[in-house]
Amino acid sequence: MIEKKKATPISKLGEFGLIEHLTKDIKPKNKETIEGIGDDAAILDYGDNLQVVTTDLLVEGIHFNLMYVPLKHLGYKSIMVNLSDVFAMNARPLQVTVSLAISNKFSIEAIEELYRGMREACDKFNVDLVGGDTTSSLTGLVISVTALGKVKKGEVSRRSGSKVNDLIVVTGDLGGAYMGLQLLERENEVFKVDHNMKPQLEGYDYILKRQLRPEARGDIIEFFKEQNIIPTSMIDISDGLSSELLHICKESKTGCNLYEDKVPLDSQTKKFAEELNINPLVTALNGGEDYELLFTINMNDYEKLKNNPDFTFIGNITEKEKGANLVTTLDGRSIPLTAQGWNPLK
Ligand code: ADP
Ligand code: MG
Repeated sequence: MIEKKKATPISKLGEFGLIEHLTKDIKPKNKETIEGIGDDAAILDYGDNLQVVTTDLLVEGIHFNLMYVPLKHLGYKSIMVNLSDVFAMNARPLQVTVSLAISNKFSIEAIEELYRGMREACDKFNVDLVGGDTTSSLTGLVISVTALGKVKKGEVSRRSGSKVNDLIVVTGDLGGAYMGLQLLERENEVFKVDHNMKPQLEGYDYILKRQLRPEARGDIIEFFKEQNIIPTSMIDISDGLSSELLHICKESKTGCNLYEDKVPLDSQTKKFAEELNINPLVTALNGGEDYELLFTINMNDYEKLKNNPDFTFIGNITEKEKGANLVTTLDGRSIPLTAQGWNPLK
């Protein structure tokens, strides 16, 4: 007789719960490992500089749909999301490795397209593609990218460094990538019903680009260097503003006030959200995949950022006891911030 083993569904824990469960007693054994699991990238100590390492896995049918995602864009994005995690440590990316599992439905030309996008993304930030692994898959395409980067000791920004009274800042605008995905999904549904239907994408070029071809904010890291700014904490926005801000508060043991009316939204994001009867704010808070940087700075650095259109001040860090709150525009009420996020395991 085979003994019946306990089988708890993974959905019970969700993505973050599962990671915590699997890794809670994994402790670094080597003195070179400064930070293991828990930030945008691991931090390794090799002398004057710290090395950061981050990895991501993209699975066909889960993270991308080849019905409407061109392979070249997919390649570009799969590199960019990793470089974004390196930038989120205030580090410079130097190398990536790329591992692929490919099913027999893909031609050489198709994989060449994927690589064209990957190389474009690497070239943009002067990153070397130094290796990987290739194997076959029974069903679809699986892409795993690992990125390595470098940062001077003392310049690294972790999730855990925010302090009470720090200002909370975000780059660019939020929610666009999520609305771009909604648009692509809608047009794909229409196409599945009637193959003669042409997709209606006019007027939405910006949100489509936000979804299909995101740009990691390496320009911001350069700006920090020039201005001698070291964010007290930083994270990139892959799962939505709420989720990322809660990560910073949890790791820093702080609270926060996020002001609803300050959250930056593009006009196309707002327009399409209204068309679908979605509150545009929700696309920023819970949408994800914007790959903007969310960071905190000491008030003394305010002057250096205040007139720069890349940055929006969206709140401030408070004592942990005050909790993480969203301050509403209408009546100034504070409601607890919750992370719905984008959870692929739900
Ligand atoms: P991000 O959204 O920035 O890519 P994740 O939420 O995927 O970050 O990961 C959070 C942390 O957990 C990171 O330090 C990552 O290296 C680690 N992590 C994720 N999955 C695993 C896993 N299966 N085993 C060990 N560590 C993991
Ligand atoms: Mg990240």
